[in-house]
This record gives sequence, C-alpha cells and structure tokens, in this order.
Amino acid sequence: MPPGALPASAAALRADQPVDPNEPTYCTCARVSFGDMIACESETCPVEWFHYECVGLPPGQELKAKWYCPGCSASLKVKIKKK
Ligand SMILES: [Zn+2]
Ligand SMILES: [Zn+2]
Repeated sequence: MPPGALPASAAALRADQPVDPNEPTYCTCARVSFGDMIACESETCPVEWFHYECVGLPPGQELKAKWYCPGCSASLKVKIKKK
C-alpha cells in the first residue's frame, strides 16, 4: 500500500458535513443522530433514540438494564403508582 493512501479521518470528515434537512431527527433536542445513541425500551416512545449527552449518560457507557427516556420513565412511574 503506498503511503498516504489512507483517508485522513472519516470521523473528522463526517463532523464537517452540513446537516441534511431531510434527515430524521431524534432525541429531546430534535437533532440528527450522532455519536452514541441509546434507544428507549418503551414500545410507545414517540422519540425512541436519544443522544447519550442529552440524557446525562457518560459516553461509551454500556447499559445492561433496560433504559427508558425521561418522558417514558415518568409515565411508567405513574402506572406503577396506580397498581
Ligand atoms: Zn439530543
Ligand atoms: Zn421513551
């Protein structure tokens, strides 16, 4: 392989790309997906995918338990109380 054949940094290039207005948005911040994303386990979640940073999770953390977004965990707590 000749020297310099490797692209500089795919991640750096991606960060400079303009946001496509047609790209679906996620999370409470209504931005496009980037970095670490976590899915809400609720089947009725209107958002489903969230940025780690927006829900207060440290980047790279793997959750073994089910995770619910702030909106769903609030409604789940209401359900439990009613039992
Ligand atoms: Zn977000
Ligand atoms: Zn949710």
